[in-house]
Amino acid sequence: MTSLIRRPAPEAPVAFGPIAFIPGNKAGRYPYCHSLVITGAETWVVDPGSHKEYLRRLARERRVTRVLCSHFHEDHLKYHHLFPEAVFYVPRVELEAFTSLTAVYRLAGVADPSFQAYLAETLARDFHFPVRAPLVPYHPGERLVNGDVVLEIIPAPGHTPGHSCFFFPGQDLLFLADVDLTPFGPWYGDAASDLADFAETLERLADFPARIFLTSHDQGIFTAAEAGIALAEFRQVIRDREARLLKVLETPHTLAELVKRRLIYGRSREPAFIYDHMEAQMLAKHLASLERDGRAERAGESFRSR
Ligand SMILES: [Zn+2]
Repeated sequence: MTSLIRRPAPEAPVAFGPIAFIPGNKAGRYPYCHSLVITGAETWVVDPGSHKEYLRRLARERRVTRVLCSHFHEDHLKYHHLFPEAVFYVPRVELEAFTSLTAVYRLAGVADPSFQAYLAETLARDFHFPVRAPLVPYHPGERLVNGDVVLEIIPAPGHTPGHSCFFFPGQDLLFLADVDLTPFGPWYGDAASDLADFAETLERLADFPARIFLTSHDQGIFTAAEAGIALAEFRQVIRDREARLLKVLETPHTLAELVKRRLIYGRSREPAFIYDHMEAQMLAKHLASLERDGRAERAGESFRSR
């Protein structure tokens, strides 16, 4: 397999006809993402988490009527408060998570009270949670029309239940959101993330007929040929994680022991309790999948391969 030669994210906006790609701070790495600005009869913004000054100027110079959100994650919403007059279009199944901490806790799988308090404080302080604008739910397959520009909702569950890609048939352009094609690979660290759904989504997107592919983090812009390679590499990361896990499970391990080995994240990062949580969520999904198809078994708290 040819491996992808990666480029850095662009430093300035890149226009694809009426769709502008707005690179996020820090190459769109968390707590930022890349945004899109769509100029049709009206001005729309996709995922307002990119760049405070850019988005602030946009809000001053143009009337942004709609903000479209690929999913509820805070890094995709960071500057939502700059568009108080816009209507926010959000995935129907995640509607509550734009306004309710309880819904965020439930989707993320955060039950510990001190973790909940940390999350509440961080979301309010760094991400202006909750969204106070009116919310309109969108549905898989729905087409939103902005003058000459058509945006079609492509369901892409797995990362989160409502995670959606946006297809622009007039521009042959697919916005992949957090199918982000980074070397890290797919992220399924919420309780509501689903490994099998993510794998299915990747399979479905593998031969998606678009000319340009945009993502939310890192490189951000891919030709069809590049996206083909990047998607194959992205899918391979799931298999590599599984192989590492099966190897370790040649001797029995509990989930807590596995979490310490950082089979997913590779090295320890701070804050440790957050990475413990995400590592555990992701490993638990691999363990459930291995147990289901008989490649691992559980005895009490311990798992081993078979
Ligand atoms: Zn996300």
